[in-house]
Amino acid sequence: MSATDIAAEAAGDDASPEPSEIPFSLALSQDQKDIRDWVHGFAEGVVRPAAAEWDEREETPWPVIQEAAKIGLYGFESLAQFFMDPTGLQMPIVNEELFWGDAGIGMAIMGTSLAVAAIFGQGTNEQIGEWIPQCFGTEDDPQVAAFCASEPDAGSDVSMIRTTAKYDEATDEWVINGQKAWATNGGIAKVHVVIATVDRELGSRGHAAFLIPPGTKGCEQGAKVKKHGLRASHTADVHLDDCRVPGACLLGGKERLDERLARVREGKQARSQAAMQTFEASRPTVGAQAVGIARAAYEYALDYAKEREQFGRKIVENQAIAFTLADMKMEIDAARLLVWRASWMGKQQGMVFENAEGSMSKLKAGEVAVWSTERAIQILGGNGYTREFPVERMHRDAKIYTIFEGTSEIQRLVISRAISGMKIA
Ligand SMILES: Cc1cc2nc3c(=O)[nH]c(=O)nc-3n(C[C@H](O)[C@H](O)[C@H](O)COP(=O)(O)OP(=O)(O)OC[C@H]3O[C@@H](n4cnc5c(N)ncnc54)[C@H](O)[C@@H]3O)c2cc1C
Repeated sequence: MSATDIAAEAAGDDASPEPSEIPFSLALSQDQKDIRDWVHGFAEGVVRPAAAEWDEREETPWPVIQEAAKIGLYGFESLAQFFMDPTGLQMPIVNEELFWGDAGIGMAIMGTSLAVAAIFGQGTNEQIGEWIPQCFGTEDDPQVAAFCASEPDAGSDVSMIRTTAKYDEATDEWVINGQKAWATNGGIAKVHVVIATVDRELGSRGHAAFLIPPGTKGCEQGAKVKKHGLRASHTADVHLDDCRVPGACLLGGKERLDERLARVREGKQARSQAAMQTFEASRPTVGAQAVGIARAAYEYALDYAKEREQFGRKIVENQAIAFTLADMKMEIDAARLLVWRASWMGKQQGMVFENAEGSMSKLKAGEVAVWSTERAIQILGGNGYTREFPVERMHRDAKIYTIFEGTSEIQRLVISRAISGMKIA
């Protein structure tokens, strides 16, 4: 099935059940279990053994991405298959398993999906068909894509985006200028999706998303970021200097943008804001990644506690340790349930989260991941603090989940605004 066919199917041109006909169920279908076990096998057999090496190297693990492409785990067809699951659960299940294997490598594999989500959510059928396959490359020559919203002075506050896109009518091109910060796969991506402002006075409602085709002059990687965790995932600044892209690279097309801007200028509500729409859709999936890290640390700590002896008994026989493990298990399950609820709701209601359920899921899962991995270090004692054991890496990896895709504070802001209807600052 081509990317365009999948887009048409997602838009409802098929005979699959209406999402509202899918009741909530925790009983996974055979298909869901098979895919979960398949991804788990890859995470256990390929990702885990490579995790420490790529964390130390702080480089994109291309051989692992290639392996994932070879088995069909990395590519649009599989991503679309996970995404199209009418229950919404397949995407979080796959992410949890992969990130259980390792979060740095997991992000090297899944980082492309943020750009893909932007193209899929905002692009025309033609753009989806042309650009999404390029984001992944081929089985023999896999590529990655980058989604560039953040800037040095626009992190939590995306309305501060200063990158501009100006339309050159004479050549039917957009001219993009600015500096992007923190872009996952920035500079090494085949396709960059860049959020730029076309009308600064409109704040985030004046934003639009642009495709930067491979090899475009004026799009360069800036400094590569040396990170605390998630080190197998490449993060870098991206510089855009008089970067000219064809008119057709505006996601959704000019007519739709002009209509939207006209509505905003008339004081009517804009339906979507380019960056926010992408983040809203991806939050439960990001939460699932955090659940995967938390579960990996919990399982490691449980096994360790059942082996390690002090004072003549297994350390798990002390309530202090056993109760911690009980709390870890409970918190991880609670986080997963919030993730699954948001993922299911997203399918049922077209991503309308009335009480910011997407944000709740990401907030809870991120905080549980940080807490659980820290507890896992404690349970392993001195060993937990060393690079000989994986829980210290898991702890470093987990921390990003309270920061990117909206910090924990911003998630609380979104939730409190949603539940109160008030302008909480
Ligand atoms: C590894 C990594 C990968 C990333 N990948 C991408 C990517 O692919 N694409 C992309 O566009 N971006 C990416 N980012 C950027 C990321 O989304 C931002 O770092 C994040 O949004 C926070 O922005 P900031 O770092 O500027 O922090 P700031 O916005 O400066 O926030 C600093 C602190 O102030 C708090 N704060 C800010 N405003 C408020 C408020 N109103 N109320 C209460 N507290 C507040 C924050 O919660 C935080 O604790 C990535 C970042 C990292 C570290």
